[in-house]
Formats: sequence, C-alpha cells, structure tokens
Amino acid sequence: MSISSRAEWEKLLNTLQIEGRAFIDGEYLDAKFGETFECLSPVDGRFLVNVACTGSEDADIAVRAARRAFESGIWCDMSPSERKQVLIRFANLIDANLEELALLESMDMGKPITDSMTLDIPGAAEAIRWSAEAIDKVYDEVAPTSKNQLCLVTREPAGVVAAIVPWNFPLKMASWKLGPALAAGNSVILKPSEKSPLTAIRIGQLANEAGIPAGVFNVLPGYGHTVGKALGLHSDVDVIAFTGSTKVAKQLLGYSGASNMKRVWLEAGGKSPNIIFADAPDLEKAAKAAALGIAFNQGEVCNAASRLLVEASIKDKFMPLLIDALKAWNPGHALEPDTKVGAMVDSHQLEAVLGYIETGRSEGAKLIIGGKRTLNETGGNYLEPTIFDDVSNSMRIAQEEIFGPVLSVLTFEGTEEAIRIANDSPYGLAAAVWTRDISKAHKAARALRAGTVEINQYFGGDMSTPFGGFKQSGNGRDKSLHAFDKYTEVKATLIGL
Ligand code: NAD
Repeated sequence: MSISSRAEWEKLLNTLQIEGRAFIDGEYLDAKFGETFECLSPVDGRFLVNVACTGSEDADIAVRAARRAFESGIWCDMSPSERKQVLIRFANLIDANLEELALLESMDMGKPITDSMTLDIPGAAEAIRWSAEAIDKVYDEVAPTSKNQLCLVTREPAGVVAAIVPWNFPLKMASWKLGPALAAGNSVILKPSEKSPLTAIRIGQLANEAGIPAGVFNVLPGYGHTVGKALGLHSDVDVIAFTGSTKVAKQLLGYSGASNMKRVWLEAGGKSPNIIFADAPDLEKAAKAAALGIAFNQGEVCNAASRLLVEASIKDKFMPLLIDALKAWNPGHALEPDTKVGAMVDSHQLEAVLGYIETGRSEGAKLIIGGKRTLNETGGNYLEPTIFDDVSNSMRIAQEEIFGPVLSVLTFEGTEEAIRIANDSPYGLAAAVWTRDISKAHKAARALRAGTVEINQYFGGDMSTPFGGFKQSGNGRDKSLHAFDKYTEVKATLIGL
C-alpha cells in the first residue's frame, strides 16, 4: 500500500472529483427530472456528493439502451474469447484505480480502509476476471438421445439483467453479478444501494475505457422503492439478480409474478450457526474465528457467524478465550490503516442494531461485553462489538438478522441438539462446525440446512466456491461456474437424422 496514514487518505479525498450521476448508454447523465439525494459519509458525517436519484423513467431509458445493445449483438455475438479480453481489461482498470475506489468505498459505507484496499476492491476485480477467464472454457452439451436425432443443449445469454445490490460490500457484491452476467453476453443495469452508490457509479467510466460497448453496462443510483421497484416490475427486464434482505427478496418475487415472470435470483439474509464441539481441535483458533465471524465488516455480513453454539462441557473454558479475541476488534476511524472495525453504514442502521441490543436485554439474555455507541466525537456511527450469553434460540436476537456486531451465544449438549438448534431458523445461508472427529464433521455438514458449511474455519472459500442459501436465504448461487446458470437460458436444438 503506498498510502500509509489517515492524513494521506484525507489528502487524496480532498483532490477527488466524486461522480454522482447515473451511467446510461455509455454516458454520465443526471436523473431525468434532475432529482438528487445527498451522499453523507458514515465515517464522520461529511457531505460527499449529490447523487442522481433515478426513478421509473430513468429505468425505462436504461432498459431500452440495454435492450438495444443486446439486440444489436455488439456484445452477445462477440466471441467468448473477445469478451474475455474486454472484461479482463475492465478488471485490470479496477485494480489500477485501487486507491481511489477503496477510498470511495470506505467513505461511502464506513468499512476500514485496509479492508477496502485488500479485500473489497481486489475481490471485485477478481470476480470479474474469474468469470471472464472461465467463459471461453465452458462447453455446451449433446444429449444422449436415440440415434435418429441429435440434440444440442446450448446456453444463451438471458438478455437484460438488472442487478440490485446491497451496501455491505458494494462493489464486490455487484461484481459477483457483473462478472458472470457480462461474460455470458448479457446487458446489465446495476442498481447500487442508495447507501453506497459511489464505486458502482465510478466504474461506469472504467467500463467505457475497457471497451464495453455503450448500453451493455448501466448504473442507476436511487432508492429501492422507486427505481429498484421499477426494474423489478419492468416487462423488458429478463432477469433480476438480487442481493439484499429477505423482505425485499420476497417483494421482488411478487414483482416478477405481477409482470413478465422474469427470472428472480436471490441472495438474501442469514443467521448462521457456528458450532463449537467439545473436541474442537484448537479452542483459541475457534474463539478467534468466532470473533472475526461477528466483528468483521462491523457485523454487516450476510453470512456473519451470528449464532454461536457452544457445547456445555467446554463453555467455561471457551468464553474467556472468546472475550479476549473480541477485544482485538475495537472500532476505530475507518481511514486509520490499522482499524479493524469501522463505522456502521448510517445512523438508521446503528439505531436498528442498538434496538436489538435493547431487545436482547429485555428478553433476558446476558450482555457480557460491548453494547454501546462509541467514538461519538468523530461524528460517525461507531458501535462496540457485543456479546449476549444465555440466549435461547426462540429469542428475537437468535431468530432475526441483526446485521451488526452482535453475537448471540447458545449452549447445547451433544450433536443432535446442536443440529436441531442450528436448523431451527428461517435462514440457511452458512454454518460452521469445529471438531477433530471427521465422521462427526461430515455427518453434521450433511445435516445442516445451509448453502455453505465450513469445518474448522470461518469465512473460507474463493471465487471457485458457490455461494448462496437454502430456505429464506435465497436461491441460485453466486461465484463458481454455477453463477452462469443465473444469466443463461438452456436451449435444446433437435435435429432429425
Ligand atoms: P435491502 O434489501 O434493504 O436492499 C438491497 C437492495 O435492494 C438495495 O439496492 C435497495 O435499494 C433495493 N431495494 C429496496 N427495496 C426495494 C424494492 N421494493 N424493490 C427493488 N429494490 C429494492 O438490503 P440492504 O440493507 O441493502 O443489505 C443488507 C441485507 O443484504 C442483509 O439482509 C444481508 O444479509 C443481505 N446480504 C445477503 C448476501 C448474500 O449473498 N446472501 C450478501 C450481502 C448482503
């Protein structure tokens, strides 16, 4: 990292011309009716830029541009290897603008600058590069039909994809969708969260520089209930690729049913169980992973390890290790390079999480560390990582996604009870088990109703790992070759011989 202090980040910030306009058909444009909203930083409350507040008319203009580009074949008819080259240039440009994008990401949503520099922005570039590199290596199929016919099973781009994404990993979640959708030949309209639109807007220009044709990639900043809903209901959008809350995911299913039955792929919420068995190979390592699992990214993580299940016989030994591990996760100014916990995305989210801390208290859970707002003098939204012990799985703090650094600790006796508690949730995004018994680990992994199960680690995986949920955590998978399923239609072409 060439920038090594908060002062240098502040200096860079003062030189930036932050773009707040929508990006449609290869150009930056104001919203049709000129509306804007203020983008304020959760880091210190400062004003960053006025952002175009697009609505249904803008959605219509962008969908028409995307459709025109798709029908023209300028992108979808390019050979996969040519599209690959363009997208690799796009990924390289994201890498080349690392510092600016990282600074925008941290100022816009509050995450530590070191996370933006080492995880978010490189992760976004990697997601695009990975899909690009894969696209000229996936083959279609010939079906095993009878001999008097030949059946070619081919995949075609779905058409116009609207990607609606959240604020917790703004560019990375967007790129998990942009990579495979663009690589497969679709036109994409990206709708970033109103809480974190800046990096999405910025990469419009990089898409132009990379050579992505006008109309193939568009960015519509604005609110969910206006422009997001307009995309969800639009009859010329073929696919919605969504990451966000389960509540909005359900609305999108409704919009699809009320309009053109567009495909709706959902990456939604979670309340992931992290199960520490008495025979865990290394309790200190498990405690550190449990702290990481709830404090990383201010706990604003869909697969946060937010329910910790500890076997009763090791509880007294484990809890001090956990408390010690969590003390390493002190909130600090998001632009300080050694900060590990930054600011919550906005005051609304901070209040919502503080509300859950009150709920935990009133439900009778025992608050053992954290629980308070902190660093008030910064003007930002900082919260101490928090642990509740003596939680029962029926409490709201065990059932509902808090989306902040608040850990609920539950106790169990034996594998059967652990699995029963773990699966007693409307969600099924991720889970982890810690044991040295390989048979127990595999049996638990099979029994857990979750899209990802980790054994003796947390937050593992890379672009080759499918990511998505069971139950109300969603459908479909981001990352890996499975992601292409979302953005392609399967066609059977039958030839009589
Ligand atoms: P959210 O559901 O409030 O918003 C997500 C996006 O949907 C935003 O762009 C928002 O503007 C838009 N939106 C809101 N209402 C809409 C509507 N009526 N029609 C269309 N679009 C609408 O979620 P959030 O608060 O931004 O993000 C947090 C949530 O995201 C958490 O529940 C978290 O678990 C989830 N998440 C899931 C994953 C995953 O991969 N499963 C990853 C990251 C975050």
